[in-house]
Amino acid sequence: MYPAADTATLLIDGKWLEADDGATFPVTAPATGELIGRAADAGAAETDRAIDAAAAAFGPWSAETAYARADVLRRAHDLMLERAEDLAVLMSTEQGKPLKAARNEVRYAADFLAWFAEEAKRVHGRTIPSNRRGHRFQVLKQPVGVVAGITPWNYPMSMITRKVAPAVAAGCTIVLKPAEQTPLCAVAVLALLEEAGLPPGVANLVTTARPEPVGERLLADPRVRKLTFTGSTEVGMRLAAGAAATMKRVSMELGGHAPMIVFDDADPVHAAKGATLAKFLNTGQACISPNRIYVQRGVVEAFTEALVARTATLSAGPGTSPGVSIGPLVDDAALTKVQRQVDDAVERGARLVLGGTRLTEDGLDRGCFFAPTVLADIDETMLIYREETFGPVAAVIPFDTEEEVVARANDTAYGLASYLYTRDLGRATRVSEALRFGIVGVNDINPTGAQAPFGGVGVSGLGREGGVEGLDEYLDVKLIGTAL
Ligand code: NAD
Repeated sequence: MYPAADTATLLIDGKWLEADDGATFPVTAPATGELIGRAADAGAAETDRAIDAAAAAFGPWSAETAYARADVLRRAHDLMLERAEDLAVLMSTEQGKPLKAARNEVRYAADFLAWFAEEAKRVHGRTIPSNRRGHRFQVLKQPVGVVAGITPWNYPMSMITRKVAPAVAAGCTIVLKPAEQTPLCAVAVLALLEEAGLPPGVANLVTTARPEPVGERLLADPRVRKLTFTGSTEVGMRLAAGAAATMKRVSMELGGHAPMIVFDDADPVHAAKGATLAKFLNTGQACISPNRIYVQRGVVEAFTEALVARTATLSAGPGTSPGVSIGPLVDDAALTKVQRQVDDAVERGARLVLGGTRLTEDGLDRGCFFAPTVLADIDETMLIYREETFGPVAAVIPFDTEEEVVARANDTAYGLASYLYTRDLGRATRVSEALRFGIVGVNDINPTGAQAPFGGVGVSGLGREGGVEGLDEYLDVKLIGTAL
């Protein structure tokens, strides 16, 4: 068991502190319900001091050379890889995902540190030929200032480096509020940045079980010039509205409802392998998880058979146990939501081909485990067709034509990830251009990487993380016109 953390989990101006009133909240392993630590339960006063620290650190940090900022991020990257195994065990214990998936996430988290260490040195401006004689235009990119970052529990380390690395690379300072389910992962990442030489106040951490008062302070303070949020669409919309009062810049990485389209010219067995890997990744608790799997009628039987055969081999259990590929859901509410979607689909005529219930044997009743599930004959009348599932349920929908499936895939307010399987280049091009999503995987179930822009359209959010775009989110553009 990972040792219980010290309860001084607030990092403010380079000091690790308890909450002012000593209040803490429990951190439990979702697989077993066991207590694994306690974290400081901060409120408005601690948040204000974290903003003070970030505001004071902004001047000196933004005046550092990009090379100096890059050195810190590069050292943090190296330290993260050195500690990868310990970090993966912590993540698997606190968040629940299988150890192998946790190791992958630690590497993904480290990739953002390396990528933005390099990009820090490429914040180029430009000169623009003027339309007037004796005149020059110059464009500079400058850090936006103090940033507030709010992150979810499902990717508890990579969602932090995806925000903190570009912020500090750009010369910004940040106050981070991690999810209440995974504060210990946040402590581990911030401690590592500190050890890598990040000066006091540049990155501050406010752990809390009460996000509202902390969020309110971050939104209300005019010194905070940018809010970067990853989480649900519902909360994201509320926070974006709050950020408008002080006209903060916002980046919003929100929910998804990804379609996966399998055409009949694709190998249905290969596509089913991809669908299994993508759908059950992180027990379906991923914003890019395929929520609607459209399969052309000619291959739907072969596809479903292969999907069921593969899904039946997945074994559920605590992420740290060997051979486990399905971890627990985050909480009871998640379990209830998944069960409701499955029951509703079956009542409305879907075929339950595999799973469909909570798992309680062999000690699994101590966590919120749901059986890997396959539902066939899903249609538009069912809840699962519209609501993000965030659980291990593959919903298969038959279709007939390309035109029909593009229209159905686009029939959602979400617009994050989408996938298609085809061996026809013309079709791949037509469909990937017609899908109204920020990300399209063509015969590819993992269209993500630190070097590539990640983000959605519609109610899936605003802005991009990763790639060259990920740094621009933390930079203001300044125009200088000079009369010579
Ligand atoms: P959530 O919105 O409930 O919580 C996300 C974060 O917001 C947490 O830190 C939480 O404490 C905080 N929060 C909640 N209410 C707040 C308030 N009033 N003020 C300030 N902070 C507040 O989401 P969740 O259930 O933790 O995460 C799952 C969601 O995140 C899913 O919808 C998923 O699709 C989405 N997600 C999106 C991406 C992406 O990149 N687009 C990545 C991962 C997860």
